[in-house]
Amino acid sequence: MTVTFLGTGTSQGVPVIGCDCDVCRSLDFRDKRLRVSIHLQIENKSIIVDSGPDFRQQVLRERIKRLDALLYTHEHKDHTSGMDDIRAYNFMQHIDMPLYAEQRVINQIKQEFAYIFSGHNYPGIPRVNLYPIAEEPFEVEGVAVTPIRVMHYKLPVLGFRFGNFTYITDANYISEDEKAKIAGSEVIVLNALRKEPHISHFSLSEAIALLIELKPKKAYLTHISHLMGLHREVEMELPGFISLAYDGLKIEL
Ligand SMILES: [Zn+2]
Ligand SMILES: [Zn+2]
Ligand SMILES: [Zn+2]
Repeated sequence: MTVTFLGTGTSQGVPVIGCDCDVCRSLDFRDKRLRVSIHLQIENKSIIVDSGPDFRQQVLRERIKRLDALLYTHEHKDHTSGMDDIRAYNFMQHIDMPLYAEQRVINQIKQEFAYIFSGHNYPGIPRVNLYPIAEEPFEVEGVAVTPIRVMHYKLPVLGFRFGNFTYITDANYISEDEKAKIAGSEVIVLNALRKEPHISHFSLSEAIALLIELKPKKAYLTHISHLMGLHREVEMELPGFISLAYDGLKIEL
């Protein structure tokens, strides 16, 4: 399996529009963070988790020429709003794109992209097949996925486990039962917004404490705000098995 970080930034992205802080002015490419998303290549299947506003730019950058399915963690705009651009794959692959999401998220997608579902199938609109998922394990194009229920303040969100790899992007609480589903993952990706506490995201110290408890071989932090600090400096403060993810980072499992 190859995992590519398409984006590792929080909802505003980094740099933030109009901000002159050290991080937003940094020339380090690792301090430029598009909205969160990952691409998974599992054998011959190409899967993306979330399609935020930078989706087009991300699949162009990584030259993703084929896409078999999209999975959604939740309905927030930074995770969904770029979905219209799956049209390119509709056209190239002659398929309706399978979208996997919880029913609540599907309902929101239907509202936000109402033109897709209006029944007026004018040429060029995205073509999708919606597959509702819940807390039970499911398959995406033959790839086994275990959903992990996490809480994003009051909003129930899904993380996903693919074999030895677990991806959790917007959370600030995970129950003991759900931690048991993550246990044994070789690589865990977890969100960490910034150093200060936040109402709906793990802070850096909360994420580190949870990762020490979960004990993966390697962990990466994502959904990062400019308030986290410079990539190079934060990296030096982390335990050896934890790194900040950055856009374009690829890992092989
Ligand atoms: Zn988010
Ligand atoms: Zn800034
Ligand atoms: Zn969110």
